[in-house]
Amino acid sequence: MTYTKIRRVSDALGLVAIAAARLLPLPGAARQMGTLTQLKDIGLFHSQGLIGGRWSDAHDGRTLSVNNPATGELLTTVPFMGGVETQHAIAAASEAFPAWSRRTAADRGKLLRKWFDLLLTHKDDLGRIMTLEQGKPLAEAIGEVTYGAGFVELYAEEAKRVCGDIIPSPYPEKRIFVLKQPVGVVGAITPWNFPLAMITRKVAPALAAGCTIIVKPAELTPLTALAAAELALQAGIPPGVLNIVMGDAVEIGAAMMASTEVRKITFTGSTGVGKKLMAGAAGTVKKISLELGGNAPCIIFDDANLEVAVKGTLAGKYRNTGQTCVCINRVLVQDGIYEKFAHAFVKAVSQLQVGNGLENGVTQGPLINEAALLKVENHVQDAVSKGAKVLTGGKRHSLGRTFYEPTVLGHATDDMLIFREEVFGPVAPLVRFKTEEEAIKLANDTEFGLSSYIFTENIARGWRVAEALEYGMVGINEGLISTEVAPFGGMKQSGLGREGSKYGIDEYLELKYVCLGNMKQTLP
Ligand code: ADP
Repeated sequence: MTYTKIRRVSDALGLVAIAAARLLPLPGAARQMGTLTQLKDIGLFHSQGLIGGRWSDAHDGRTLSVNNPATGELLTTVPFMGGVETQHAIAAASEAFPAWSRRTAADRGKLLRKWFDLLLTHKDDLGRIMTLEQGKPLAEAIGEVTYGAGFVELYAEEAKRVCGDIIPSPYPEKRIFVLKQPVGVVGAITPWNFPLAMITRKVAPALAAGCTIIVKPAELTPLTALAAAELALQAGIPPGVLNIVMGDAVEIGAAMMASTEVRKITFTGSTGVGKKLMAGAAGTVKKISLELGGNAPCIIFDDANLEVAVKGTLAGKYRNTGQTCVCINRVLVQDGIYEKFAHAFVKAVSQLQVGNGLENGVTQGPLINEAALLKVENHVQDAVSKGAKVLTGGKRHSLGRTFYEPTVLGHATDDMLIFREEVFGPVAPLVRFKTEEEAIKLANDTEFGLSSYIFTENIARGWRVAEALEYGMVGINEGLISTEVAPFGGMKQSGLGREGSKYGIDEYLELKYVCLGNMKQTLP
């Protein structure tokens, strides 16, 4: 590669500037060339925040590293921002709000549509960036880009369908109207497990409704968010409408909470942090939507189609190496099918291919970090100490780092940690049950209520159990239920509000009742 080319690539990364400002050794940038030159459009790779349409560093120059979990390699550094930058971003979003909200819905929809087109045009690059920072297999990452872009397409269309209402008035001289208006500036905080889709499912409805937004992606996976933001700018979404800050999560969150200009918080992440944000939002009485942890049951009844049940449970459990909030956490298997299911399931699980997500054929990437690995180990050790049997896997993978063997545990019981908490890793505990009633009781025996799954060939049973499950989402004979057109969200301590579908945009709208009085009863 020529010096000019290297220089251009480094500039695109912001690494030359960073190196000059912070005395980062340039060889770090050079080390990255191999990986980065595989991007078709190097311009997607940004390593600065986005405030008011300008790519920005932290005011004090602090940075944080972004590493590839599959190799440990330093990908780049990004600004370690905090309260100061968040306030700047809030100011930019507030400034952009009046003009953006006054545009026609059709106009906002057109820009979102362009963004959607660009996301799909660049899906291979976005997928590659995602695999590099998050670890999921490339095919799965590209699949997430398509899924994530779907929210942008959906809300490009829904923007035009935000209709108000006229209510028949009980008074002859008055008329009653309902307007729907954007809530204002939105603060969005997102996790690392879906670096794109968790952002688009918030940003797209917010922008469609006429809101402006500040997004704080997870510090582990900011690069996909920044690449998507670059494409939003290219689509013509005006400066300040979409802002990205990352760094000190607590400070950024606190700045969003303290601001009277931020009228709405939308969060996906752990239940613990969600509760803190809910409490924080009380100070300024912000609207809030929360998509928190789950503890998904998957009930396999005796009358299930074995092949469908194995396939569905495999997909619902091991997607993203078990690191999604809708991942199956507990597999409840009825007595009569238990042995047959366990045998077929273990066979399927042992065929999963673990490795670097950029390698062909890999279906299971690494866990996101050491803490995630320790949690998985702890859950398995706890289960085994209480009588569970390891049917396959059960230990760290020979690849080292944070790779863990896809695992199935037999004889799991409700006193085990894994029955109570999300394992967020590739471990499926099989719990035996006898009756439908017992299965429902076990399934609902948790403070969480996000997703649930049932496998049965009996339609009446499927419907009956779906009604009885205290969960926001139920898959019947299906392990993959997420789609932008359906309302995604939980009951109980799994959250508030819904994302996606025609309902998702309501979270970003205020209802305003307008009463028109003194109407003349007769024509003049
Ligand atoms: P996970 O365990 O999946 O990482 P977290 O709830 O810790 O879930 O993280 C989800 C998002 O919330 C991330 O962007 C993270 O940086 C952010 N976050 C964590 N703690 C706080 C906090 N106290 N205030 C605001 N955001 C936070």
